[in-house]
Amino acid sequence: MTAVDVLSVAKSFGKTEVLSDISVHFAQGSFTSLLGPSGSGKTTLLRILAGFVAPDRGRIAIGGRDVTDVPVWARNIGMVFQSYALFPHMSVEDNVAFGLARRGIRGEAARREVARVLDLVRMPEFGRRKPRELSGGQQQRVALARAIVTQPSVLLLDEPLSALDRRLRQEMQVELSRIQRESGLTTIFVTHDQEEALSLSDTVAILDRGAIAQVGTPAEVYEHPRTRFAAEFLGDANILDGIVGGGRVILPGGAAVRTLASLPPEGSAVSVAIRPEKIDAVEKDRPSAKGEDRNRAPARISAALYAGTSFTYDAVTPDGLRFKIFAQNRQARPFAVGDDVRLEWSPAHTVLIDADRG
Ligand code: ADP
Ligand code: MG
Repeated sequence: MTAVDVLSVAKSFGKTEVLSDISVHFAQGSFTSLLGPSGSGKTTLLRILAGFVAPDRGRIAIGGRDVTDVPVWARNIGMVFQSYALFPHMSVEDNVAFGLARRGIRGEAARREVARVLDLVRMPEFGRRKPRELSGGQQQRVALARAIVTQPSVLLLDEPLSALDRRLRQEMQVELSRIQRESGLTTIFVTHDQEEALSLSDTVAILDRGAIAQVGTPAEVYEHPRTRFAAEFLGDANILDGIVGGGRVILPGGAAVRTLASLPPEGSAVSVAIRPEKIDAVEKDRPSAKGEDRNRAPARISAALYAGTSFTYDAVTPDGLRFKIFAQNRQARPFAVGDDVRLEWSPAHTVLIDADRG
């Protein structure tokens, strides 16, 4: 069952179209990241879901009920934004109880619910404090408790961790993931951070200039990006442009690359993407492993960047094609600039991508 359905939603501000024909479905109990660069329309879509902004076209349904014309307060949504927006003069308990009071839940019933969610966010002993007596991470937990205390049918989170420093942010990612699992709330999490989206959510929806570029599990969108944008935004990618010939992709210079993807007719222009960690750089004279028919290309190392756990190499082929390669730091002798190497990678890791929309 879908918890939230977005059907052909479009929105412009003045002459600028910010969302164009968005359709996306969020499954009951799922944790979906809405991932896109700054300005791609993530917040606008979230505000439309919440009811703060009306779409120009299209419909929103929550739990199968059309809510497009239902006001914010009647949509049963929980929200957390980047800025904590707690009431500074109210205690943690009163902040959390605020949404309950508005629904007429007071007294013992309210106290029970407040205690339940403060337990869930692991802040049971902080109820009497004021927001200013809490750290940024603690304030964000309270904001989360306040958003979920009313048992909303969907939880909307707009970059809730982006104001936190790196360590706290990682800690809160783990917490958020646990709280979502324990509460079972359908969660839509806006972020521009690729790793955060991949590690936290069970579904990733990629937004590119106001349109959905791809929806899938983290592994699907990372391993099989469908567009150049998805490939490049979600990590690093080597993108090769070529022409289909003899069931392979013929690159400028004549080298042929195999892919397991089904190719369009001979002569079609195509692009393939290969993730840098899928490519092995080996000494140029090392015998090739038997078995799998790998793609191979001679290249010369043009840059070597040491990063502790790994190396990032740039390499250039005699035809002038440039590759980026990630190698774990376990070679007996790392490569240096000027070394001649052979690049090898699997046809399974050679992913056919669409040319970008203009
Ligand atoms: P994101 O959250 O992905 O960074 P936003 O949805 O905030 O993107 O914004 C998308 C685009 O819409 C931006 O170009 C922004 O300037 C514009 N925009 C957002 N809200 C308004 C508004 N109320 N009035 C005019 N333009 C807006
Ligand atoms: Mg935003």
